Amino acid sequence: VVETRLIDGKAIAAELRAGIGRDVAGLAAQGLKPGLAVVLVGEDPASQVYVRNKAAQTLEAGMASFEHKLPATTAEAELLALVAALNADPAVHGILVQLPLPGAIDATKVLAAIDPAKDVDGFHVMNAGRLAVGLEALVPCTPLGCILLLKRVLGSLAGMKAVVVGRSNIVGKPAAQLLLREDCTVTIAHSRTRDLAGECRMADILIAAVGRPEMVRGDWIKPGATVIDVGINRVAKPDGKTRLVGDVAFAEAQGIAGHITPVPGGVGPMTIACLLQNTLTAARRQARL
Ligand code: NDP
Repeated sequence: VVETRLIDGKAIAAELRAGIGRDVAGLAAQGLKPGLAVVLVGEDPASQVYVRNKAAQTLEAGMASFEHKLPATTAEAELLALVAALNADPAVHGILVQLPLPGAIDATKVLAAIDPAKDVDGFHVMNAGRLAVGLEALVPCTPLGCILLLKRVLGSLAGMKAVVVGRSNIVGKPAAQLLLREDCTVTIAHSRTRDLAGECRMADILIAAVGRPEMVRGDWIKPGATVIDVGINRVAKPDGKTRLVGDVAFAEAQGIAGHITPVPGGVGPMTIACLLQNTLTAARRQARL
C-alpha cells in the first residue's frame, strides 16, 4: 500500500496566478496591459458561472476584461461580426467564445474566425496544427493545466508511459500532444478501446477526460501512478442534493495512486489560471515583448 498524495490544484493555480499578476505589473511599465475578451451567447447556467469566474480572475491579475453577453437568439452573422471587431481591437489580446453555443450557430465557423494569435482557448485548427507539428502555439487551457500539475509533481516526464482516456479536441487530443512533447510514451484510449482497464494499468501517468462519474476504478491504477482527473460530473446524493465527482473513483484510488487530483479543486482551477497565462503569452507576442 502506498501513501496517496493529493495534488492541490487550487493552491498551485493560486501561485500561478500570483506569478502572472507580477508579470502583468512588470509589463505595465512597458505600456502593455493584456486584455481578454470573453463572449457568452445565451443563458447556460454553468457557462455563466465560468464566464463570471474568468472575468474576476482576469481583473485580479491586473489585466483588462471585456465581457460580451449576447442573447440566445443572436444570429451567427452578428457573432462573427463581433469576433471580427475583437480581432481588430488592439486592446484585446485574447478572445474566448464560451462553448457550447446555441444550436443555430456553427461553432466550428466561429472558432475559425478568431485570429489564431488571439485564440487563447487554443481551439483554432491553426493552433491545433502548430501544436501537432511542434511549432509555437497557443495550447488549450485544461490540458496545459494537467501538464503543469504533472511537472510540478514529477519534474521531468521523459520516458514515462502515459495513458489519456478521452480523445476530444478540447482535452484528450491536446493532452496527448503535450505529453508527447514532454517525451512520454503515449496511449490515447476511448470508447472503442479494448481492455481499457488493462491499458490504464500500464500507465505511470493516467489522465481521465471522459465525463463518466467514477468510471476509472481503483484496480485500474498502477501502484504509485500519478492520476489527473479532468472529469466534472454532477451526481445525485441520497438526500436529493447533488455533488461533483470526477471520472476516477477517488476513494478506491487511495492507497494505490502515488498522487491524485481531487474533484473539485484539482484540474478545474488550473484551467482558468492557464487561460490567464495564455492571454499574457498572446499579449507579449502581439507586442513583441
Ligand atoms: P467529450 O464528451 O468531448 O469526450 C469524452 C471522451 O471520452 C470521448 O473521446 C469518448 O470516446 C470518451 N469516452 C466516453 N465514454 C467512454 C468509455 N466508456 N470508455 C472510454 N472512453 C470513453 O468530453 P470532454 O473531453 O469535453 O470532457 C471530458 C470531461 O472533462 C467532462 O467531464 C468535462 O466536464 C470535463 N472537463 C473539465 C474541464 C476542467 O476545467 N476541469 C474542462 C473541460 C472538460 P469516443 O471519442 O470514442 O466517443
